[in-house]
Formats: sequence, structure tokens, C-alpha cells
Amino acid sequence: MVAQNGTGNQNVEAEKLDVLESTQTVIKEALDKLGYPDEVYELLKEPMRMMTVRIPVRMDDGSTKIFTGYRAQHNDSVGPTKGGVRFHPEVTDTEVKALSIWMSLKAGIVDLPYGGGKGGIICDPRNMSFRELERLSRGYVRAISQIVGPTKDIPAPDVFTNSQIMAWMMDEYSRIREFDSPGFITGKPLVLGGSHGRESATAKGVTICIREAAKKQGIPLEGARVVVQGFGNAGSFLAKFMHDEGAKIIGISDAYGALYDPEGLDIDYLLDRRDSFGTVTKLFKNTISNKELLELDCDILVPAAIENQITEQNAHNIKAQIVVEAANGPTTLRATKILTDRGILLVPDVLASSGGVTVSYFEWVQNNQGFYWTEKEVDERLEKVLINSFNNVYNTSKNRKVNMRLAAYMVGVRKMAEASRFRGWI
Ligand code: GLU
Repeated sequence: MVAQNGTGNQNVEAEKLDVLESTQTVIKEALDKLGYPDEVYELLKEPMRMMTVRIPVRMDDGSTKIFTGYRAQHNDSVGPTKGGVRFHPEVTDTEVKALSIWMSLKAGIVDLPYGGGKGGIICDPRNMSFRELERLSRGYVRAISQIVGPTKDIPAPDVFTNSQIMAWMMDEYSRIREFDSPGFITGKPLVLGGSHGRESATAKGVTICIREAAKKQGIPLEGARVVVQGFGNAGSFLAKFMHDEGAKIIGISDAYGALYDPEGLDIDYLLDRRDSFGTVTKLFKNTISNKELLELDCDILVPAAIENQITEQNAHNIKAQIVVEAANGPTTLRATKILTDRGILLVPDVLASSGGVTVSYFEWVQNNQGFYWTEKEVDERLEKVLINSFNNVYNTSKNRKVNMRLAAYMVGVRKMAEASRFRGWI
């Protein structure tokens, strides 16, 4: 197909927005750079297991609705697979597969004893009642119970799922197995074996990456102008942390629009008014579009919403000097190249958003030990892990002269390639 691209060139093929294909492209490049044979790519290009389930749910009006759900397990050579479950109307099987591969890479980058997994259910929790959501969550666990477990595959929260949903899922799993299984799932409420610091962990990890990236680019955080796309779990906590670091949050957005104030937005007020799905812009008259938000004049841009937001269409117009991906897959491969060529430091999703799974790992360790840590202990450990991982990826990018995304994939893929080799799979 021939289409016009963002540079005004008429004869360039339109950019593909298939997240699985793009991640496979970078996995291949990373394995080639590391000198692995083709079999390794053949093994790692798709999840080793993908389950599709149909979940009947009795709705409040007495009718029964059948929902489709997925669980993908990418590679369990290093350890059990691990990753969140998203509830979203646009979930697809290829997206869940790509997300499971990204979880493997995150685990590799922060050096956790896990492979990647991911789940999703096609539904819109914004239009479902509390009890309907409970029945859906329990039904999902019953449907996938054979392939998950504390030493098999450990779910967690993701887009539009939260600690209450984790609690129902943990309870359902414990009922099926007939013993208490807190280690089956992470992101639980504190009283059910959750960890201090888990809720804000993704944003804390992003904050640490921003701090490190700003040091490399020589940008002081005090007074830096920050734009955050998305006001969900990652985006909202992040806006707060950056505000506390002395940065000025000049733009935020949700699924319905964006807010802009060059003098800095009142983050505490917005946090107070957001609903549980991160919606806040509906309360305001003067909004701008998400497209305008991404192209605002700022120092640091954090896409913290959904996939394919920075593409070849708008990458030339991004004004930030640092882009830190708090969401999974917000920047396409062509846009990655454009941003890198323009000297913008791009901190890729598999590194920047790995704080969540890192503290999930801490939660699982605490569940296994039955011994719980303070928030300070969790924070200190997270800080150490993220600073090391950032520098590892950054140095790989410099030494091997590759962009930060490829560097992150090279760091992330190595452990599972080695573990698969030692196990004799390849
Ligand atoms: N859903 C989060 C992610 O994409 C966290 C996964 C986890 O904690 O296992 O990284």
C-alpha cells in the first residue's frame, strides 16, 4: 500500500502498526547482534503457549454475556512466566502475545528469575458493575487455572485492572486449589499479602529512569517542563513524583482529551478529581487534543497511555529532548529511528516501565517467605535495580552504537536465550 507519510514523501509504504511484528523485528536484530543462530529467534519470536478462553458471565440484568480472554506465556526457561492482565475493549490476541514478549524482556533487563506472560479480556470495565467485574475476574481464573500458579505463571494488574480485581482472582485460585495462595498473583491489597510500594512502583521506576536520562542529557529536573500522556496508574503517580522533584507538569491527558498550562498544572487537584480509570479532562472546558499534547514544547515527554502514539506521522514534531515510555509500545520503530536520529534520548518501555514487575517480584518473594518488608526497603531495592538496569542499557547503546530500544532488547533477551540453551531446547 502506498500512502503519504509524515515527511511528505508520497512513495513510502505506510507504517505497519502491528506491535507483534515490530517486537519480532527488534528481537531478530538483537539476537543477530549478539551472534545467536536462527533457531533462537524461531523459539523466541512467539509465545510458547497461548490460551484463548470464553467466559460466561451472569450480568446484573439477568442475561448472560460471553467474554473472550487470553493468557500468553512467552518463555519459561528462566523461571515461571509473569505479567499483568488487562481489561480493555481493544484487547487482541496479537497484542497479548507482544505484551508477553515485552514482559520477558523486562524480566531480563531487571534480572528477575522469570519469563514473560500476559493476559487480557475483551471488555469495557467502565461500563460494568462491581459485581459483574467480580464474576468476570473469577470466571477468567477458573478458565485459565490449569496453566497458572505461583511457580508456573503469576498474573498482576495492567490497564484497567487493580488490587480489588487481584484480590478476587487470588481468592478464586485459592478456592480451586484448596489452600491459601497469595503468591499466585501480585498487585494485591496490603492486607492480602500485597507489597508496600507496588501501586506506585511503575511510576517510581519511570521517575528513576527520567532522573538518570536527565543527568545524561544535562537537563536539571528542577523546573523541567514535563508532559505526561495518560493519567492512569503510571501517569498519575508519575505526575505527582515529577511535581515533587520540582519539575513543572505542563500537560496531561486521558482518553478524552488533554490539559495544558505552560505555568504548570495543579497536580494535587487533578489527582483528587480523577476517577478510578484516570478520567479527569471531562471536568474542564479548555482542553486540547492528545495529538497537540504530544507536540507541545517541553523538555521531557512521557507517553503513559497506550500503543502506537508516536509514529512517523508526528515523530518529527516532538519537541522534548527526552522521551520516556511508561506505557507498553507507545512508539513505533520508524518513530524510534526518527527520534534517535534527532538526538532525542528515548528510554524504551521494556526498561522504563519495569518498576512494576520488579516490585511484583518483591511481593512474590515476600509471599514465599511469609516475611514482609517496609516501604523504605522496597524503595531502596527498586532504586538500586533500576539505576543499574538503566546504566546497563545506556552503556550497551553507547558501546555497541545501537539505539536504546535495540540495546534494551540485547540486554533483555540474553538471559532467556542462554537459559533455553542450557536446558537443551536449542
Ligand atoms: N502489567 C505490568 C507491566 O506491564 C506489571 C506486570 C507485573 O507486575 O507482573 O509491566
